[in-house]
Amino acid sequence: LEPQDGAARVKENFPVHLLAIGGSDGGISAALRARELDPSVDITVMLADAYPNFSICGIPYYVSGEVTHWRNLAHRTAEDIEALGIRLLMDTTARRIDVDAHQVAATDQAGGGSLVAYDAVVVATGAVPIRPPIGGLEELGPGDGVHVLHTMSDTFAVMQTIERVNARSAVIVGAGYIGLEMAEALTTRGVAVTQIEQLPEVLPTVDPELGRLVAAELRRHGVDVCTSTRVDSIERSGNQLLVRAMGPGNEPVERTTDMVLVVAGVRPDTNLAAEAGAKLARNGAIHVDTHMRTGLPDVYAAGDCVVTHHRLLGTTYIPLGTTAHKQGRVAGENAIGGEKEFAGSLGTQVVKIFDLVAARTGLRDHEAISAGYQPVTVAATADDHKAYYPGAKTIHLRITGDRGTGRLLGVQEIGERATAVHKRIDTAAAAIFAGLTVEAVNDLDLSYTPPLGSPWDVIQAASQAWWRETRRS
Ligand SMILES: Cc1cc2nc3c(=O)[nH]c(=O)nc-3n(C[C@H](O)[C@H](O)[C@H](O)COP(=O)(O)OP(=O)(O)OC[C@H]3O[C@@H](n4cnc5c(N)ncnc54)[C@H](O)[C@@H]3O)c2cc1C
Repeated sequence: LEPQDGAARVKENFPVHLLAIGGSDGGISAALRARELDPSVDITVMLADAYPNFSICGIPYYVSGEVTHWRNLAHRTAEDIEALGIRLLMDTTARRIDVDAHQVAATDQAGGGSLVAYDAVVVATGAVPIRPPIGGLEELGPGDGVHVLHTMSDTFAVMQTIERVNARSAVIVGAGYIGLEMAEALTTRGVAVTQIEQLPEVLPTVDPELGRLVAAELRRHGVDVCTSTRVDSIERSGNQLLVRAMGPGNEPVERTTDMVLVVAGVRPDTNLAAEAGAKLARNGAIHVDTHMRTGLPDVYAAGDCVVTHHRLLGTTYIPLGTTAHKQGRVAGENAIGGEKEFAGSLGTQVVKIFDLVAARTGLRDHEAISAGYQPVTVAATADDHKAYYPGAKTIHLRITGDRGTGRLLGVQEIGERATAVHKRIDTAAAAIFAGLTVEAVNDLDLSYTPPLGSPWDVIQAASQAWWRETRRS
């Protein structure tokens, strides 16, 4: 194995060759930031597949048919990236990082080996879907119509199944945000969806009071929602699949279906970094500091494979594209000599479910308690704009503040798509980021015109509800 050309090591610790392992949000962001800062740095992105810089967040909208070609999911094409002077090593899997020699051993699809030298490396190997302990799951795969969903290849396999069996029905195991987006996507395609969730409510990242509204929206669009229901086994049944589950009262729940999608979360993909000696957190994510340093010389890491530094919770794990982009940018900057810090996540997230949008930022009660706060959560509703202007809709909010200090800790919201729930949660995220109290949210100079808002925006109406409630108790 010969070191690859163009990867000359230099002295004085000045990185001339940055290698990013991973061609998705984390790896590409690192490469782009390094290029932006220094046109002279030699940059290579190595990725195990042939889909660099694809927006896997957009997969549900390709499955639904709203995005008409899979190529449209690319944030940038391979040509766009290469035009920036970033070398792409596609279909190339990193097998081993030799930290002392500053080399990565890799194999291509044909099994051919190569050694890629680096001065600094950013590990951005992402995450892989969790396969819950469901009988039969290990033996069944895409050829049987049983799928997980994380990569473009997973997406193509789903689409092949839909066409091959002319799928009329699907069981989705899991009702987190990806499961919900896929319930909408398949329903939009005319597939009858059963959604099975073992927890008592769908979208368990928000309080059950709001999850119930999401479940109602799913049912309104014909989705068969089974909560508190645990899938025990999947087996072939003629040309179809039989899913056996246990319902809330321990009664058997069975569905015969054309396809099954298991979307039960992800786990960090960290073998490569761990074998190189990187320290792992309890959940298996690579431990990095706020500079995205792994502790191994010249080895940085970012994205779904690393722990998440949270502004209120400390070290946690929240795998999200928005975070992977930011961490990758920090890693890319520091890998070429910068001193940038990742400012920390608030777990801000949003999901569209048919005509509803659910969003959250910051902490819910149980998280706040674990971080040592004394949370009080208050429910509120407010119109998205002045009721006298046609089309006003109710937004449901839950606002959490610390009883002792009055600090704003978290906000959850649900409203119709046209109510700009996502931007309103971003106001809350900015307020929490800045460490504002609930009371101080009322001082924010937010915009107002009757067709779009009220003199007190919904987030301020919720803050006032919180203040009234906590003053009483
Ligand atoms: C359907 C879906 C919808 C989503 N929607 C949202 C959303 O709306 N908002 C949001 O914030 N997040 C969303 N996410 C999550 C978001 O996509 C991820 O958090 C983000 O893509 C993580 O980026 P990453 O670069 O860390 O890892 P990944 O995207 O997991 O990419 C890992 C990369 O590493 C490569 N790789 C792995 N191992 C090796 C190796 N040994 N050698 C070489 N290359 C390797 C892979 O080929 C890939 O290029 C969604 C995810 C999915 C699946």
